[in-house]
Amino acid sequence: RADPAMEPEISESHKAALRSVKPQLLINGKFEDASGGKTFETLDPRTGDPLMTVAEAQAEDVDRAVKAARQAFDHGPWPRMSGRQRGSIMHKLAALMEKHTEELATLESLDNGKAYATAVSVDVPMAIEFLRYYAGWADKIYGQTIPTEGKIQAYTLREPIGVVGQIIPWNFPILMQAWKLGPALATGNTIVMKVAEQTPLSALRVGELALEAGVPPGVLNIIPGDGPVAGAALASHKGIDKIAFTGSTEVGKIIMRHAAENVIPVTLELGGKSACIICPDADLDEAVRGAHDALFFNHGQCCTAGSRTFVHESIYDEFVKRAAKVASNRRVGDPFDRATQQGPQVSQEQFDKIMGLIDTGVKQGAKLETGGKRHGDRGYFVQPTVFSNVTDDMTIATDEIFGPVQSILKWSTVDEVIRRANDTEYGLAAGVFTKNLNMANTISRALKAGTVWVNTWNQFDCGVPFGGYKTSGIGREKGEAALSHYTQTKAVYMPLEEPLTWNS
Ligand code: NAD
Repeated sequence: RADPAMEPEISESHKAALRSVKPQLLINGKFEDASGGKTFETLDPRTGDPLMTVAEAQAEDVDRAVKAARQAFDHGPWPRMSGRQRGSIMHKLAALMEKHTEELATLESLDNGKAYATAVSVDVPMAIEFLRYYAGWADKIYGQTIPTEGKIQAYTLREPIGVVGQIIPWNFPILMQAWKLGPALATGNTIVMKVAEQTPLSALRVGELALEAGVPPGVLNIIPGDGPVAGAALASHKGIDKIAFTGSTEVGKIIMRHAAENVIPVTLELGGKSACIICPDADLDEAVRGAHDALFFNHGQCCTAGSRTFVHESIYDEFVKRAAKVASNRRVGDPFDRATQQGPQVSQEQFDKIMGLIDTGVKQGAKLETGGKRHGDRGYFVQPTVFSNVTDDMTIATDEIFGPVQSILKWSTVDEVIRRANDTEYGLAAGVFTKNLNMANTISRALKAGTVWVNTWNQFDCGVPFGGYKTSGIGREKGEAALSHYTQTKAVYMPLEEPLTWNS
């Protein structure tokens, strides 16, 4: 096991990756300081030491970025060029990102703490695939010709919405950026993106690559900064035509209030408390592994984390035993050690929140099967933790933990587990492990969640819509579904009573 207590290395390749970033605001095609020269430190989650000093956008900077995006939308080439041309520029961006895969993955791991092996094989390639997928859509977005009553023809145009504000979180920085950029760019919008204050680096590097690929100045503006300052200034700005947000439900509500004030469309991808239901007939080892991955992937920092593992009473004890063993074997350590499965959590704040919830779990009577403590003595590492004897009313079963903490609950009947799985304000994802097709169909149709996985978890194909029921969100990202959130429809009517000759 790698020991996070040892001095983590900032190797030459790490330094080179950091040097590739311009740690400023990207506004109108230029990297600039924030007004008043305000900066913040982005930290190395392995140690809590500063990694880089980054410009911190203020309300005036947000205003400049929105004006640049407005100018680019109203007068620039991006919304006016053909979809095919836009697609071709997006393909160039994807190719540049591919060329810089290792550098981007290094930035992602340094800034977020995620295992490099995952960043280089999952996060960055998926972000690239995503941009390619939407580049493919860019020339395939069109309206309809609609039969009408009377001698009139009608058709629709699908036009970009305009200046789009986008706010993203820290858990999948480059992937969340691609999820937001793909449909917005393909449809011809211009963008002001507020990246998370914990993880600004990879997004800024992608911003520079976008310029190199030929995305015109002002089309993509990237502003690192604080949520209540830069994020709030963006979400409430009168100059944006739409706001898209990924983050907590709490902040999502604030974003929606701003959107209501400006009467603009809003899409929200928010929190979750996903139920992972294990049926008595499931292959036990596969189910244990599946439920483990459902929760522990990305150190538990997934909105779709299977954070309520419901196990049938007939296999409960054995399942708990095996789940605890798998968790305790999880390799925690430096994200750059290829053997590492779990690096540090992203920040001191998240670390404290997770440790607090573990404490609450113990106090409320859940049984700690493994973990429960900090791993090592510096940085934000948390031991993979498993609780059994969890009941529905415990805080660890109701609140989003966003950390490596599995809560295992017991169920007896199918009706009961469906009711309990749905008894949450959230509805982002859910899943079931069973060999019985009828059971899989019954349960997946009954679950109130935007995504249901059967005998698998965390599948995210570009073409498949993703989003939440209930307080987990509004709208869908990915697939064709996302395009409708970045276009508006114009109806055009025209009389059909043409003169038959020029002389008549
Ligand atoms: P967060 O809501 O605190 O922050 C998300 C973003 O919002 C950040 O960029 C932050 O700076 C900004 N922000 C914070 N306060 C703001 C304000 N008042 N006005 C405008 N912007 C503001 O969430 P987080 O802790 O960074 O991320 C974790 C949360 O995100 C979890 O709840 C998780 O489930 C959710 N999430 C959801 C999805 C999804 O697709 N549904 C994906 C990833 C994360």
